[in-house]
Amino acid sequence: ITDPMTGLHNRRYFEKLMEQEVALAVRHHETGSIILVDIDGFKPLNDRYGHEVGDLLLIEVAQRLTGCVREVDTVARFGGDEFVVMLSDLDIDKTASIGQAGNIAEKIRAILAEPYALAIRKDGKVSTTVEHSCTSSIGVRLFVAHDVSAEEIIKRADLAMYQAKREGRNSIRFCDGE
Ligand code: GH3
Ligand code: MG
Repeated sequence: ITDPMTGLHNRRYFEKLMEQEVALAVRHHETGSIILVDIDGFKPLNDRYGHEVGDLLLIEVAQRLTGCVREVDTVARFGGDEFVVMLSDLDIDKTASIGQAGNIAEKIRAILAEPYALAIRKDGKVSTTVEHSCTSSIGVRLFVAHDVSAEEIIKRADLAMYQAKREGRNSIRFCDGE
């Protein structure tokens, strides 16, 4: 149920939690949202400094994400450099809830773009620290009445995230269609 590297929930466990949350939201006419995050240009960091250094970045991303959200929200690692945040208990009003989710997505975008200090190790000892910067592409999808399954919501957040990638990265897109 846990991703050992970051300590976050893994994808399977997250999807379980999400199914429960979606069912509750439907029953109580509440609004929730997911925010799907993929790091831009992550591979070159691995290629240049090695996987261990890439891992350090992913661990720091996990910590920053956790620091961005409230206790009631859930953060998970979907795999690779992809993360997801589930926001519970948003405003009933659609415009207001879009605003809330958008604000948190923007907070995430900004905090992940802050520089990272990554330790390079040689023979087990830290030999130097590199400062690295990267951005992220973010897709947001609210829970709405016709999205009956977690899978559909994730699929739509994923489409929005890929749109952010296509349209230049370092940005946030909402999926508000069917
Ligand atoms: P894009 O901007 O399109 O997102 O490109 P990207 O370079 O970030 O690459 P992409 O998201 O497509 O792929 C993520 C890469 O992350 C692929 C893999 O080499 C690397 N990766 C996956 N899991 C791990 C991991 O646990 N540790 C490290 N260090 N790298 C990982
Ligand atoms: Mg990526």
